[in-house]
Amino acid sequence: MSNIGSENIIEIKGIKKCFDDFVAVEDFNLEVKKGEFVTFLGPSGCGKTTMLRMIAGFELPTEGHILLNGKDISILPPNKRPINTVFQRYALFPHLNVFENIAFGLKMKIVEVTYKNKSGDTIVRKEKLSRKEIREKVKRALEIVDLEGFEKRDISTLSGGQQQRIAIARAIVNEPEILLLDEPLGALDLKMRKEMQLELKSMHEKLGITFIYVTHDQEEALTMSDKVVVMSDGMIQQVGTPEEIYNEPSNVFVADFIGESNIFDGKMYGNKTVHFCGTEFKCMDDLPVGSDVDVVVRPEDVEMTTVENGQIKGTVTSVIFKGMHYDIAVQSGDNEILVKSTKSAVIGESIGLNIQPEGIHVIHSETNVNVYDGIITAVDKVSFADGEFDCNITNLFPSAKIENNHLVDQDGNKINVSGTKVTVKVPVTAPSMSDDIDAGGTNGHIISLIYKGDHYRYIVRTKSGEDVHLHDQSLWNENDYVSIIIPKDSIELSLKEEEV
Ligand code: ATP
Repeated sequence: MSNIGSENIIEIKGIKKCFDDFVAVEDFNLEVKKGEFVTFLGPSGCGKTTMLRMIAGFELPTEGHILLNGKDISILPPNKRPINTVFQRYALFPHLNVFENIAFGLKMKIVEVTYKNKSGDTIVRKEKLSRKEIREKVKRALEIVDLEGFEKRDISTLSGGQQQRIAIARAIVNEPEILLLDEPLGALDLKMRKEMQLELKSMHEKLGITFIYVTHDQEEALTMSDKVVVMSDGMIQQVGTPEEIYNEPSNVFVADFIGESNIFDGKMYGNKTVHFCGTEFKCMDDLPVGSDVDVVVRPEDVEMTTVENGQIKGTVTSVIFKGMHYDIAVQSGDNEILVKSTKSAVIGESIGLNIQPEGIHVIHSETNVNVYDGIITAVDKVSFADGEFDCNITNLFPSAKIENNHLVDQDGNKINVSGTKVTVKVPVTAPSMSDDIDAGGTNGHIISLIYKGDHYRYIVRTKSGEDVHLHDQSLWNENDYVSIIIPKDSIELSLKEEEV
């Protein structure tokens, strides 16, 4: 950590990357300090590699700028950037030995050498590196990756971990200012991964250069990084130190993705007082009284006690021994609460649970109401979110009524409603999902699910990118293609202000 400088080596400003109509990265802003170990963390497909490839120069941004030491490099080709990349698949040359693999780039390298001639004039010449220089550089790179003396070995005789170290040696031998690592440990088994994580961290300290690392493994990110960038759906969700993103997640996605969490729907009942799981708790966060909140409680912050002494009472439904601790599930009313404890419990036992204010993290609740731009298509139909739904439009025109399938005013004149622009509001508790794709008004893929103790919260994305937030008791899978059913009476319409 002592290697981190005060100035930025990389500044990423307003980056957007589209592949045809698909937006892979959006609104990406980040500063990376010299010598920092920064990790892009997020689920598969969230845009981590795409962002890394733009820093490397393998992809060009659709919008925005990437600055290196203050200079815009957004459209500079990869070989003109002082940046090297290590990929998950090592991409070593199988027919070359270790030395030749690492020296490959060096043999092509042209450096400027300054001489003084007989008359004392300074002459700058472009030269290749000498054999001796190459040998020394390769030797030093092998020392850094802890494979001294491996020069003559065939690539095929190396283990996966050793091959990955050679790939790293090949990247650092060029002395880049920045090393980009795209899931470099992805192909290794768990034990080797853990060893290599620590080795990479120590290599980073030895080299003193900037590392930008991509992974979907949260433990890996927490172990190695100075700064973690949590991404979802092409966008940054939070940037912080490993401690910050673990202890102070900025939204439920981060809380759910980083470590294990209990996440409940709650409401602020008073000054630093939050209500969830049927009980009032004191908390550290001071949000406005009456606001709907998401409450995050780490399982290790739930203490087991006797029924009489518990803020919450419940019944133990599962106990799993995990070596250092037990994972215990407790059912309290409709809510399931997960506890991590060094003490065990007995299935079926009634117990009490306590949570200290420091263990309760309160976040402003995400959408409780879905809001869409809609258009009335018939006297009882509204179209929004790429679909058409039954609705009740009489409240839009209070003095009108429906006669023979037409809306008529007090004098019996027909009102043409087709094409009327409306704002549509649907509470998150209203929609339901069906796997019969014709059952509902619109269709989409589940892009996110979060367990909230007594229900799951889902986001379903329609084909044009409209999101439907909804609650459901049952467990569906991410990426399931579903249809969305919304009861007519839950669709609230209001006339849209005419645009001037
Ligand atoms: P993973 O961990 O699985 O590698 P990731 O977070 O690195 O995921 P990316 O590889 O950046 O994700 O991909 C983000 C999205 O962009 C994905 O939906 C992917 O299919 C899409 N994508 C990436 N490259 C291209 C491309 N060249 N053309 C079209 N779509 C692409």
